[in-house]
Formats: sequence, structure tokens, C-alpha cells
Amino acid sequence: MTMASRILIVEDNETNRILIRDILRYHGYEVEEAENGMEALRKASDRPPDLILLDIQMPVMDGFTALRHLREMPGLKGTCIIALTSFAMTGDREMIMRAGFDDYISKPIDTRSLPGLIRRHLEGEAMTGLKKGLR
Ligand code: MN
Repeated sequence: MTMASRILIVEDNETNRILIRDILRYHGYEVEEAENGMEALRKASDRPPDLILLDIQMPVMDGFTALRHLREMPGLKGTCIIALTSFAMTGDREMIMRAGFDDYISKPIDTRSLPGLIRRHLEGEAMTGLKKGLR
């Protein structure tokens, strides 16, 4: 039996957070939750997760700021960090990828494709064309 991967969900919207948490728990993941970037930094440094889902728009500390701090944590070197955003405008995806996120999930969340996306990232197989282009 392998140990379940740990995922940290950082999202200020409780409805979204619970929805994502329940889907991921159903798929066997161990899930931690944070309501803003500051809480995410505390939880991630206490116990580094394998993957982080990070909302962009949050009170206290937004996702871009949290990402910069998370990327500086030695314990999170190989941790996949995926942005959650409701931005709909063209160009935002590129801005998010350039900021250093590994991927981008737009809200409302596609609950059917979420588990597969998470699994591919944990297995190191997912890579967007944009990210490839930036490397
Ligand atoms: Mn938000």
C-alpha cells in the first residue's frame, strides 16, 4: 500500500473549497485546507504537501504573493502548484504561467476532469504547451 499524496487546497470561497476537498478525498488523497495565502504558508511549512491548489483572489494574502513565498521554501522544491482562478480574460493564463505556477484551473471547476489533472501532475506527466514553450 502506498501512502496517499497530500494536497493543500488554498481557497477563500468555502463552497469551492469543500467541493474540491470532497472530490479529492473521494479519490483517496489526504487533503489540507487554507483560507488565504498566509494560512497556506503556515500549513505548507508545517508539513509540505505534494501538490498545492492555490486560488488567485483571496483576502489577507493573494495567490501571486503566496506563490512567491512558497517557491522560496526549501521543503517545496518539487511541489506542483496549480492556480485556481475565475479570471476569464485572454492573457491571464499566460500571466499565471509566467508567474511560476505549474498549471491553471479555471473556475467553475470541471469536477470530472479535476482528478485526472491532479493525478497527471503528481505523476509528473502533465505539461501544458505554454509551459513547454517557456522552458
Ligand atoms: Mn477567491
